[in-house]
Amino acid sequence: MSTATQPNIDAFRTETRAWLEEHCPESMRTPVKGFDDYFWGGRQPKFKDEDQKLWFENMKSKGWTVPRWPKEYGGGGLSKAEYKVLKEEMESLGCRTPLFSFGIHMLGPALLNFGTEEQKKEHLTQIANGEIWWCQGYSEPGAGSDLAGLQTSAEDKGDHYLVNGQKVWTSYADYADKIFCLVRTDKNAPKHTGISFLLIDMKAEGVTTRPIKLLSGSSPFCETFFDNVKVPKENLVGTENEGWTIAKYLLTHERSMIGNVAKMDKTLDKYAVDAIGKVNGKLADPVNRVETAKWLIDEAAFNLTLERALDEAKAGSPPGAKSSFFKYYGTELNKRRYELMMSTGGFDNLIWGENAEEGKTPREFCRTKANSIEGGTSEVQLNIIAKHILGLPKS
Ligand SMILES: Cc1cc2nc3c(=O)[nH]c(=O)nc-3n(C[C@H](O)[C@H](O)[C@H](O)COP(=O)(O)OP(=O)(O)OC[C@H]3O[C@@H](n4cnc5c(N)ncnc54)[C@H](O)[C@@H]3O)c2cc1C
Repeated sequence: MSTATQPNIDAFRTETRAWLEEHCPESMRTPVKGFDDYFWGGRQPKFKDEDQKLWFENMKSKGWTVPRWPKEYGGGGLSKAEYKVLKEEMESLGCRTPLFSFGIHMLGPALLNFGTEEQKKEHLTQIANGEIWWCQGYSEPGAGSDLAGLQTSAEDKGDHYLVNGQKVWTSYADYADKIFCLVRTDKNAPKHTGISFLLIDMKAEGVTTRPIKLLSGSSPFCETFFDNVKVPKENLVGTENEGWTIAKYLLTHERSMIGNVAKMDKTLDKYAVDAIGKVNGKLADPVNRVETAKWLIDEAAFNLTLERALDEAKAGSPPGAKSSFFKYYGTELNKRRYELMMSTGGFDNLIWGENAEEGKTPREFCRTKANSIEGGTSEVQLNIIAKHILGLPKS
């Protein structure tokens, strides 16, 4: 990767902006409203419309579905400075992300770090090209916060593993082509050892999924069952019985992704002004004014902290346990934002609708509650921060 000088980066910005203006269809420059506004990839890719397809194909041709991954694995090979420019220019034009997947944000980073060359070539390229929809098989009925208590077993049968057990809360398992899974390969070892990281095809014989119905009517969740599933040995990532290290590394990426406080089409102050109005040039409600200002200051400080962590990562110091801090703070900050929006919007926000246009704020408000559970709960993040960052004694 290149270290871009300022004139180079200025030229890159000009070129990038012109390219985006030419290649991003107008409808792909509007805010995402619902699940199908994202393209998730997969063996049977489903595009919402021609514009979504065109935008994805255009970005794929540049390797910009995964701008920072190496070119040999389908990425754009951009330096950090170039990537920052691309992100800024996409944000300023309002361009949607062309491909969203757990492959990009979770499995990909783990494979880049722990995969063999063959695994990288095969799986990273497929992820970059949107060819495979991956889901995550970590949680089990008896293993959520206590993830290392997982019981799904993979027995060594010579040229393959025989997998038996059950996963739960597997988001989009009913759509996914493959699952990255934590399995127990040594039942007698202490619980954090004896775990391995396996890649399993959802079409393999013996894999079944069952959607979990939620009160709201729709559900992203499934239970996933493995009944004597044969998994080739080459699907093991890293070393047998040492999957916990990979699991933790992947979680640092998952947590950083979830902790990212997404930009919205309207900033919080604009939202408040539109809903409440101004008196003497100030937001009409003084309590809301203080809370909104506090939130905006906290958001700015958090973004600067994230920026610093990115620089540290680039200098060779990955966030590690600090991702728990980002996950905790980012998800709690997002919950505060939506609580404020709900109180600011008043009766207008007491609408419920699964359709994308109606009831977006209350729907997102409910969704923020899940952010501080998925990828490890806030309480668990606080435990990690206490132990691994603050060095507090174990109780
Ligand atoms: C939207 C969403 C999507 C998800 N997607 C996936 C997915 O795709 N794949 C997957 O594998 N999993 C997924 N999950 C599951 C998620 O990882 C678990 O829900 C999470 O790890 C918590 O586990 P649990 O639900 O079993 O709760 P529990 O572990 O039973 O926790 C219950 C409560 O006890 C608290 N608690 C537990 N232990 C401690 C402790 N030591 N100290 C303090 N408090 C504690 C928790 O904070 C929580 O409040 C998803 C969850 C959500 C909400």
